[in-house]
Amino acid sequence: MNTTIAAISTAMSASGIGIVRISGEHSVDVIKKIYRSKNGKKQLDQVPSHTIHYGYIYDEEEMIDEVLVMVMRAPRTYTGEDTVEIDCHGGVCAMRRVLDTVLKHGAKTAEPGEFTKRAFLNGKLDLSQAEAVIDVINSKNEFALKSSMSQLKGSVKREIEKIRSSLIYHIAYIESALDDPEHISIDGYGEKLKMTTTQEKEKIYRLLSTVREGKMIREGIQTVILGKPNAGKSSLLNLLIGENKAIVTDIAGTTRDVLEECITLSGISLKIIDTAGIRDTEDLVEQIGVDKAKEMGKEADLILYVVDSSVPLDENDEKIIEMMEGKQAIVLLNKTDLESVVEEEELKVKTGHFVLPISAKEETGIQDLVEKIKEMFFDGNITFNDEVYITNVRQKEALEEAYHSLELVEQSISMGMPEDFFSIDLMNAYEALGRILGESVGEDLVNEIFSKFCTGK
Ligand code: GDP
Repeated sequence: MNTTIAAISTAMSASGIGIVRISGEHSVDVIKKIYRSKNGKKQLDQVPSHTIHYGYIYDEEEMIDEVLVMVMRAPRTYTGEDTVEIDCHGGVCAMRRVLDTVLKHGAKTAEPGEFTKRAFLNGKLDLSQAEAVIDVINSKNEFALKSSMSQLKGSVKREIEKIRSSLIYHIAYIESALDDPEHISIDGYGEKLKMTTTQEKEKIYRLLSTVREGKMIREGIQTVILGKPNAGKSSLLNLLIGENKAIVTDIAGTTRDVLEECITLSGISLKIIDTAGIRDTEDLVEQIGVDKAKEMGKEADLILYVVDSSVPLDENDEKIIEMMEGKQAIVLLNKTDLESVVEEEELKVKTGHFVLPISAKEETGIQDLVEKIKEMFFDGNITFNDEVYITNVRQKEALEEAYHSLELVEQSISMGMPEDFFSIDLMNAYEALGRILGESVGEDLVNEIFSKFCTGK
């Protein structure tokens, strides 16, 4: 923490501007040694905080680049330390030379995520917010970005703090009562406490129930395309991807491998798996594909069942319809440009799912499909303005542990156990929630979390 660190914070590719960031106690000393203003008179250790200065970076007598330098004094900075940002030219070579000069004059190379790690260690961000920083950077769609931004602004932190403050009140009360039984009575306290545990469990449950949706927002809806060979699965996938990756042929049973594609439609990401067509087959290789498809169907968030409307339904369709039971699914009645032998209404009754007529060939019905998916997974409106979504496995596990501890408190209450039993489990819940914010987490975990960041962040 005592060293002054530096890194290139922008992408390492040719661009208009590149930013070299310096943070730590000696940031201003470093920049003072290498910066010269136009008239040579300005000294950057004399300037007010949060000001920008035009000039040049010099390595001894050699001019390296023309720059703008931002001087920001602690504690009102991202890391909470003195910070200097140098806007230099964005060429890879120019950025490297500026960074090398900074390193030569007293800074050390920053580890990946070290700026944000310092922000966390200096109390500028809690761990849930620090994790949101990387999520914002990695967001693949508009909705993932919105939910990460809301976490960055402290939405998760606020929810967790509310629950914790309610728990700590009871812990403190029970502890005081046990210390001073003459003045503080806890007769019948269990009943009162039970109201709180019920209430707080409910809040934790609500947060946990966002995990599935949160995951779909972030990683995409796990989607499997099922259908008999030749129904038009690959054509649909290609249409969705907008390029010809899967092999499209007229011979039934050619899509043997499982292909996975991540696509974004109107802001929603789908992780689509195209599968071998489902049919009874003697061909061993094909059978493996069919089995795989069945397995994928079980795990999927969404099944898209493609039906060729120009051929009658048969026992293979029956099998697929069985696989869709209890799953979120949309039936796509394909090849509606051809003469139809399968009726929309008939399929609806048979499958119990929504049926959408499309033509992969003529590219019709795709927008309706997108709307339907939105409606199914996000109630049609995805705003995220005030919603808290838990998208992080670490946070989810801590919530589950807290929930379990509160269940144990309730058990102790109903079994008439002594009050110190209540406070042990309450404290466990309190600590588990604290880990979400980064309290009492070990150095190893902190290092692991920040090592996933990019350098310069
Ligand atoms: P898969 O085996 O389910 O992946 O089916 P393919 O996507 O390979 O399509 C099988 C055949 O049906 C190909 O010749 C496609 O061009 C054709 N096909 C796919 N969709 C349509 C459609 O909407 N209308 C018509 N007329 N042909 C289609």
